Amino acid sequence: LSSERPTAVQTPEQVLHEVFGYDSFRPLQEDIVKELCAGGDALVLMPTGGGKSLCYQVPALVRPGTGIVVSPLIALMQDQVNALKELGVRAAFLNSTMDFEQARATEYALMSGELDLLYCAPERLIQPRTIELLHNTSIALFAIDEAHCVSQWGHDFRSDYLQLSMLAQTFPDIPRIALTATADERTRKEIAERLSLTQARHFISGFDRPNIQYRITPKINANKQLLDFIKTEHEGDCGIVYCLSRKKVDATAKLLQSKGYNALPYHAGLAADERASNQNRFLREDSIIIVATIAFGMGIDKPDVRFVAHLDLPKSLEAYYQETGRAGRDGKPSTAWMVYGLQDVIKLRQMLETSQGNDHFKRIERQKLDAMLGLCEVTGCRRKVLLNYFGDELDQPCGNCDTCLTPPETWDGTVAVQKALSCVFRTGQRFGVTYLIDVLRGSENDRLVQMGHQQVSTYGIGKDLTANEWKSVFRQLVANGYLRADPDGYGALQLTEQCRPLLKGEASVQLRKDPEPPKSTAKGSSR
Ligand code: ADP
Ligand code: ZN
Repeated sequence: LSSERPTAVQTPEQVLHEVFGYDSFRPLQEDIVKELCAGGDALVLMPTGGGKSLCYQVPALVRPGTGIVVSPLIALMQDQVNALKELGVRAAFLNSTMDFEQARATEYALMSGELDLLYCAPERLIQPRTIELLHNTSIALFAIDEAHCVSQWGHDFRSDYLQLSMLAQTFPDIPRIALTATADERTRKEIAERLSLTQARHFISGFDRPNIQYRITPKINANKQLLDFIKTEHEGDCGIVYCLSRKKVDATAKLLQSKGYNALPYHAGLAADERASNQNRFLREDSIIIVATIAFGMGIDKPDVRFVAHLDLPKSLEAYYQETGRAGRDGKPSTAWMVYGLQDVIKLRQMLETSQGNDHFKRIERQKLDAMLGLCEVTGCRRKVLLNYFGDELDQPCGNCDTCLTPPETWDGTVAVQKALSCVFRTGQRFGVTYLIDVLRGSENDRLVQMGHQQVSTYGIGKDLTANEWKSVFRQLVANGYLRADPDGYGALQLTEQCRPLLKGEASVQLRKDPEPPKSTAKGSSR
């Protein structure tokens, strides 16, 4: 067992960033972590995939001593412990799969204070020998996972769980947290009673924010689209506009000011007093629009934010959910509006590939970005996709997202995709999308002529689609992983393994038809 984790006291945020590598807590996680760090008990109901583990892992690392995690799923223990060890967390488990020697070594490590987290099967924990051992150990907290196993009504009942209530009597000063994904109110009461958690604060999460209308639109002229959106739907409202860079924040704030809006910039590059003053005005005054990088938002709790607009794509659904979640805390109708385009996809993919970080980290980030892009390109209900990601089910399409309100058309893009991919191939996988579209549409620009690309077989075969339509095709190809942007180059597109069947004509593709770009001013407010 290693002791690599630094022992200096860390805040929950530090542990979240430095140990787990996440940017921000999900809804409720932060409150739960605080409650436990302050020594309180908690009963947590969160959907599967909602992020329950962090709720006890973070406080276990913040508080002195070892976090004891009771889990009935022996098969999962090993995986969880391995994953934690990879992060440098000193974790181990005790269960019936280990031999005497292994168990002894783990017990010794526990008593010597060398463990941050110990996973333990319930039948093991309640053995007198283990309880004795725990009396000689500094304990950070007890976490009781799958807490519905105490319920005799449920199908997962385990008699060992009933005995866990003794933890309350035996270790009255140690905070306890019980977690479950499947508890109706009756089961919840039962959990609280049977685990002696009647004093515990309850944290109950579904992820749906029904008053927020989700809309994602292809980016054509972002500034104009933003102005149209605010003018037609949110004139005089409070809102937040998120951009990726400080430069763009400043420019966008200026643009809005020039149109008469009370727009204020917010990013880490501003002087501290200007930032504080802008934030204060946003909190106190009506109809302020704050234009911000993601530095803005931590701890912002303004109830009447009517819209959150994204001019750049967030890099994960967690980030998207959290940023859009700042709208409509008062429960009144609000809009989460975003424009996104091919360049966003390329930029984020490049940032990811060139970022520091090991392969494991990159793989996770890649999956997160893919999920984000999945939300952008989906033709069904967006809310379903979003909630599903957090393990929350929605029985029906929501009726309050753009794809529900105006279902996007799809078209058979098989031939277009073959043209696009073979154009990438014929030009040597060395060019970006603008150039590729020029080739497809038979442009006579100098560079193209010089490169001799008037001679390739894909020259001019794509005149049937407009440049915007081709952009949409390429965006979907990159978003769906058929093409990738060369991480070192200037956005040169390259084929991936995935596109083989498409190139060979063995698979067909349905593409999303982007809505017509708005004419002069946008019509059709959704209010
Ligand atoms: P649960 O136990 O509720 O089913 P997990 O604890 O396994 O959920 O978390 C589900 C996924 O969400 C994991 O992949 C985890 O890494 C991720 N996750 C949890 N919290 C966060 C967060 N604050 N930011 C980013 N990802 C998170
Ligand atoms: Zn919907």
